[in-house]
Amino acid sequence: MGKVYIVGAGPGDLELLTLKGKRCVEEADCIVYDRLVNPQILSLAQKECELIYLGKGNTEGGVIQDEINKTIVKKAKEGKTVTRLKGGDPFVFGRGGEEILALNEACIKFEVVPGITSSISVPSYSGIPVTHRNVARSFHVFTGHTSKEGTWHNFDAIAKLEGTLVFLMGIKNLGLITSDLIKYGKSATTSVAIIEKGSTSKQRVVEGTLETITKIAKEQKVVPPAIIIIGEVVNLRSEFNWFEKMPLFGKNIVVTRDYNKSVKFAHEIEKLGGEATILPLINIEPLDIKLEIEKAKVILFNSQNGVRIFFEKLDDVRALGNKKIGVVGMKTYEELLKYKIKPDFMPKEYLGEKLAEESVNFTKNGDKILFITSDISPIKTEEWAKKFNRDFMATRIFKTEKVIINDISNKIKNVDLITFLSSSTVEAYIESLENKKHNLNTKIASIGKMTTKSLEKYGLKVDIEAKTATAKGLLTEIINYYTNL
Ligand code: SAH
Repeated sequence: MGKVYIVGAGPGDLELLTLKGKRCVEEADCIVYDRLVNPQILSLAQKECELIYLGKGNTEGGVIQDEINKTIVKKAKEGKTVTRLKGGDPFVFGRGGEEILALNEACIKFEVVPGITSSISVPSYSGIPVTHRNVARSFHVFTGHTSKEGTWHNFDAIAKLEGTLVFLMGIKNLGLITSDLIKYGKSATTSVAIIEKGSTSKQRVVEGTLETITKIAKEQKVVPPAIIIIGEVVNLRSEFNWFEKMPLFGKNIVVTRDYNKSVKFAHEIEKLGGEATILPLINIEPLDIKLEIEKAKVILFNSQNGVRIFFEKLDDVRALGNKKIGVVGMKTYEELLKYKIKPDFMPKEYLGEKLAEESVNFTKNGDKILFITSDISPIKTEEWAKKFNRDFMATRIFKTEKVIINDISNKIKNVDLITFLSSSTVEAYIESLENKKHNLNTKIASIGKMTTKSLEKYGLKVDIEAKTATAKGLLTEIINYYTNL
């Protein structure tokens, strides 16, 4: 028999998943998740993990619960470790209890991993504290949904509460909630905020009073998932709002680097309040070659991947003891430091030829100098041999494959910006588009002159170009672009 972990995934922001929740995702054989779960969490799962989507198109319905219960029981009976992933916290209107009853009936072991509930965190992300000294001494969380039998809360009692009132699943009944509160004595001018898709880059907040909010919400076309928060704490938002002021808030940015680097770049975007869509247009594949470095006096690296794969293949680091090492690029430099090796030299300009030129200072006539590089890197061993009077060699240790993404126009139709950090990604993008045109609403960012040239060759207009050709430099320009708009 397997075991089931009933895990709260938090309100949306990936990093609001708990460490324990993350472990349950990483170790699961099967994940059953719903609509409110951030899809990025699923990318933490093992490759073989079976992902089953059982979401209620409308969280306010309920027929699907039976199917969920049956599925987790069935998968656990197959001996699988099952993670049942739910938005927010499993016990805050999450029906986690019903799943436990089904598991108990089948004698299946379970654990519950609490999650950060939207009822407090979504207000936080809008700059609204659910309690505040001298403003609210309690908060009360309700479902805004009537039960199947049509029973409704005792609004006579609720209207008398002095604390903050929070309603989940309340958009459909917003008119009823506000009018009942007024009817039973709450002031019609009490502040109300509705927060849609909280803690994501699509977060939207509309504000009003008990009297005005229903009309405003209708005009603004507020849709679930959204939280209604009622009370004077809402007024603190004008001062406490922080998330929506982040430099990339509300922007969806496509990242096209190889998967490993994309994940890191995406994370940087998210730290700035943006949303990242990862679509790797290149793939880095180590080549099946043996390292031959004995005769080389100098070893040169022009990429982080080159360093990483070199050390994967090297079996004894002492083989490097009497060799000089040169690198270009800060990332290449930092990668080498990870192996406790300090490069002997690093040209200022990010060019292979500069590496070749500087290595002359560390060698004699005819000495062997070895480049560790990729299949497509423009390393001109013969030309440089003549120019610098040394014996240059290149070991092409990995290949960069273009990845063609079917239907790419559709996958990125609602994004604000697409980023290109190499010419190979540009080519893969053009091939992925097939004959379709680039959507002009999607701005283009390029890491530097070479990549810009490739983009322009295909008639694409570059909106943002990095001043220093690094991911960090590009991010700086992206921030400048959006803050100066
Ligand atoms: N277990 C969840 C709640 C499930 S009920 C929790 O603890 O958060 C679903 C309701 O939660 C939605 O209708 C909406 O009212 C609220 N909700 C969940 N995530 C939200 C989000 N990111 N933004 C706004 N409301 C959210």
